[in-house]
Amino acid sequence: MTKLQDQLFAQQRSKALLKQAQKAAFDYIDKQSKQRVFPNKENLKKLTIFDETLPETTSDPASLLDILDTVGSVNTVAQTGGRYFGFVNGNTLPVTLATKWLTDVWDQNAALYVMSPIASKLECVCQNWLNQLFDLPEHTVAGFVSGTSIATLSALAAARFHQLQKLGWDVNQQGLFGAPKIRLILGKQTHGTVAKAISLLGFGQSSIEWVDCDKQGRMVVEKLPRLDQSCILVLQAGNVNSGAFDDFSPVCQLANQAQAWVHIDGAFGLWAKASTLFDEQTKGLQLADSWSVDAHKTLNTPYDCGIVLCKNAEALTSALHQQGSYIQFSEQRDGLLYTPEMSKRARAIELWAAMKYLGRAGIAELVEQLHGHAQLFARLLTDNGFTVLNEVVFNQVILSCETEQLTQDTLVLVQQSGECWCGGSTWHKKSVIRISLCSWATTEQDIRRSVDIFIQARSQALKT
Ligand SMILES: *Cc1c(COP(=O)(O)O)cnc(C)c1O
Repeated sequence: MTKLQDQLFAQQRSKALLKQAQKAAFDYIDKQSKQRVFPNKENLKKLTIFDETLPETTSDPASLLDILDTVGSVNTVAQTGGRYFGFVNGNTLPVTLATKWLTDVWDQNAALYVMSPIASKLECVCQNWLNQLFDLPEHTVAGFVSGTSIATLSALAAARFHQLQKLGWDVNQQGLFGAPKIRLILGKQTHGTVAKAISLLGFGQSSIEWVDCDKQGRMVVEKLPRLDQSCILVLQAGNVNSGAFDDFSPVCQLANQAQAWVHIDGAFGLWAKASTLFDEQTKGLQLADSWSVDAHKTLNTPYDCGIVLCKNAEALTSALHQQGSYIQFSEQRDGLLYTPEMSKRARAIELWAAMKYLGRAGIAELVEQLHGHAQLFARLLTDNGFTVLNEVVFNQVILSCETEQLTQDTLVLVQQSGECWCGGSTWHKKSVIRISLCSWATTEQDIRRSVDIFIQARSQALKT
């Protein structure tokens, strides 16, 4: 045995490092609702402790963990505490976190059945459950990826393969040079990750036909160009600012008639399908060809848990095909067939834990709770002189103050308060503050306390 192995076996046997990590993690959980939501300047300065050259020799692992605990913990963004409303970042359900801890110890690779039967099994179960929950066409397949960015990339790769195949072109074999033109139809409010996927797939931004959106950010159906079988449309279940849902039924019907492919970016909004409260928003979403969604947002699993869903299994697996003399496919599910990656962590296990724990009713309750809190936030802000700019149809609220300057100054002061955190955006060419309700842990009290911070920040901004 080498000296390094000696050390490593000793560490593994004693479990002291895991116990130390557990203690630090427990302390963090106990402090999370009292901790500043964003680190203060003093703590941020301490991050320079990490500026060192690569160590020449092994370090003491306990002191390494200690540095992470003392300097790292205070420089996190406390998004698990209930008063974090930035971007669309979820929290973690306790059972999903516990599941992740356990399965981190397993360290499974979900690429192939022979690498992890348990991962393969739970991917199958999650695929079935997601199809039931979202009421998707039979035989829809799921790929478990890092997030919606990669889910959308995968879905659009499937669309590219399929649409070109119909036009007599094998993109895997012949590439894109000289291929028939594919038209990408996107609403002007499409999320930035879609344009990124389009670039990565080699279509070029010039192949995008932008469709006007209404005030809420929904694609205007009457403004759709004529569709044909060279088209790929991207719709949204949940605009990243307003939370608005595109009108799926009429668009999908037109697209289906024309044999155009429809993809729905439902990063956080697809979960609305779990509750009948959002029937109007989600109506017709099952008429699309592919969907992308994040479990790490609305469903509150740990990060790195996105899903691509595709009605046409052959299109997805053809687009993501991989060969290799050493690869051993099995009769069971092999995860790599449905994702761009080969090796990957077994993220479906946390997804399974979330759905097993919550059940259909629990997921419905969770999304309804987020919605109710968004409505409360909007109402209290309106009562206190802020202007809410969107119809609060899901979990997003966008607002402004009387002037552009006041909105910006208020936002900075809210962020500096450390009491809560939300981000800014532009909406119809104006600066806005955007609030996302995405954590199971947010309480009515958290919202009232945050609204107080908003009021204080605004009056302070007015004075300066
Ligand atoms: C978050 C988000 C994405 C990107 O998802 P990632 O998981 O961050 O890759 C795409 N579209 C919408 C609407 C989003 O909210």
